[in-house]
Amino acid sequence: MATLEAPVRPRSGLHTGPFTTEPFFDFRNEENARRMRAAIAKVRGQLGREYDLILGGKRVKTADKIKSLNPASPSEVVGIHQKAGKDQVEPAMSAALKAFESWSRTSVEERASLLFHVADLLRQRKMEFMAWLVFEVSKNWGEADADISETLDFCEFYAREALRLANAKTPVQLPGERDSLLYIPLGVGAVIPPWNFPCAIMAGMTLASIVSGNTVILKPSSDSPTIAAKFVELLEECGMPEGVVNFCPGAGASFGDAVVAHPKTRFIAFTGSREVGLHINKAAAEQAPGQIWIKRTILEMGGKDAIVVDADADIAAAVEGVAQSAFGFQGQKCSACSRAIIDERIYDKFLEQLKARVEKIKVGDPAENAPMAAVINEGAMKTILDYIEQGKKDGRLITGGERMKELGEGYFVQPTVIADIPPKSKLEQEEIFGPVLAVIKARGFDHALQIANDTEFGLTGAVYTNSRDKIERAIAEFHVGNLYINRKCTGAMVGAHPFGGFNMSGTDSKSGGPDYLCLFTQAKSVGEKIG
Ligand code: NAD
Repeated sequence: MATLEAPVRPRSGLHTGPFTTEPFFDFRNEENARRMRAAIAKVRGQLGREYDLILGGKRVKTADKIKSLNPASPSEVVGIHQKAGKDQVEPAMSAALKAFESWSRTSVEERASLLFHVADLLRQRKMEFMAWLVFEVSKNWGEADADISETLDFCEFYAREALRLANAKTPVQLPGERDSLLYIPLGVGAVIPPWNFPCAIMAGMTLASIVSGNTVILKPSSDSPTIAAKFVELLEECGMPEGVVNFCPGAGASFGDAVVAHPKTRFIAFTGSREVGLHINKAAAEQAPGQIWIKRTILEMGGKDAIVVDADADIAAAVEGVAQSAFGFQGQKCSACSRAIIDERIYDKFLEQLKARVEKIKVGDPAENAPMAAVINEGAMKTILDYIEQGKKDGRLITGGERMKELGEGYFVQPTVIADIPPKSKLEQEEIFGPVLAVIKARGFDHALQIANDTEFGLTGAVYTNSRDKIERAIAEFHVGNLYINRKCTGAMVGAHPFGGFNMSGTDSKSGGPDYLCLFTQAKSVGEKIG
């Protein structure tokens, strides 16, 4: 068995050192900026190409297509993809089942070395992958860097975790027995990611599945299939056997539903909205004819994340943390701050400083590295603008509130702050998933925590305070999967901040944490009499 320190087969590139997170680029360095512009120019020249489904290593075309568009310039087609439907479910499942026979028996060292190899090549092509995110989902350079860095972190972290898990010991060895605990693969999984971390989450759920010995049917979001296609090409280039990942862009409601319902689907790894997550949970609970297991569901869903600012907090730091958390990547992170809950004693001062900070945020073309770019699609833009109209009725518009038509056809929405939003109102309770921040006045710290906890979600949260006592209270009482103190509530780092939410935010799977791979395996206990 391999250990982290002394892997059995270092020849295929098992990285032996301790895990460290991938460094980000500093784009104030002109050479880095020049290289990023060159990567963007290269990818621009590859836009509009057609990609195939990949079933058991074979390229397959369908009559229906999915067009992935640039949100900042929707007449620009980023990629044309096949659209898997019900007819592709059986071929995808047979390919995955066939590959499972050998992949599940492949040594963990070999599976881990595939991930290390992917990390090596991805690191070399990091800016090119980042450039695809600029075009496909309107990430600026820094946001794209964070997404691909996290992808690299998942490669490096899950490979090490698989090696560690393979070396697990039972806590007790009975006299006269050899007692062991083996974490064996589950079977074929459906991997269903969202578009907002279209490389990191898509790759993270896929890599965790396959390094554990499973095979998958990967159905990327229809808003971001191109980056997924690029990643699967990279897996193939690194020697992934045919059928281990079957690449199937398709509609959630037809292909996705059919894969979830299939009797041979053993697990579903999903990240996305509360509505779709609950739907999958229910569908997965049904026993299909011929199904001999309870399907495992790993479901990470939405958030209504809050930052609480106490009366004694450093207001400037809190303003900065709220602005970054609320408007980074246009507020389209599951961890984004969508509620700022402010003590009434500093409320006006906080709002004044926040308004000034937010009005400095420039919105524009992500290819030019604008701090804020376009929201994902027209439907999302309309929903966001509807929420803003509702917010204008329920509260007081401080800044923003409009679509930015002056930037052309792209889906640009101003960073928007609406104050005096009452607890329990629509804007205070529902996930908007756009650049809209509701500010809520609290009578004191108790009241602030009560408001913060009073939604059905429980993903991220932050507290700004200088009081140790209040920090301890937040740790004990603020009911979220990822809590931050005196810092922003976005930007979880693999290994340091295992990620996953409570309540309707999901099954608290803690991606990037030491328990994550257990979800993709089943533990077999063996007690062997010896002597
Ligand atoms: P979504 O729920 O609309 O879609 C997610 C995926 O599910 C997509 O691939 C989609 O095609 C697929 N899908 C849709 N209907 C389906 C069905 N009936 N059966 C099977 N699959 C189906 O979410 P989205 O808009 O892509 O992403 C945004 C959401 O994701 C937000 O709610 C955000 O909070 C959440 N999110 C959560 C986390 C987390 O870690 N908790 C991380 C990122 C995003």
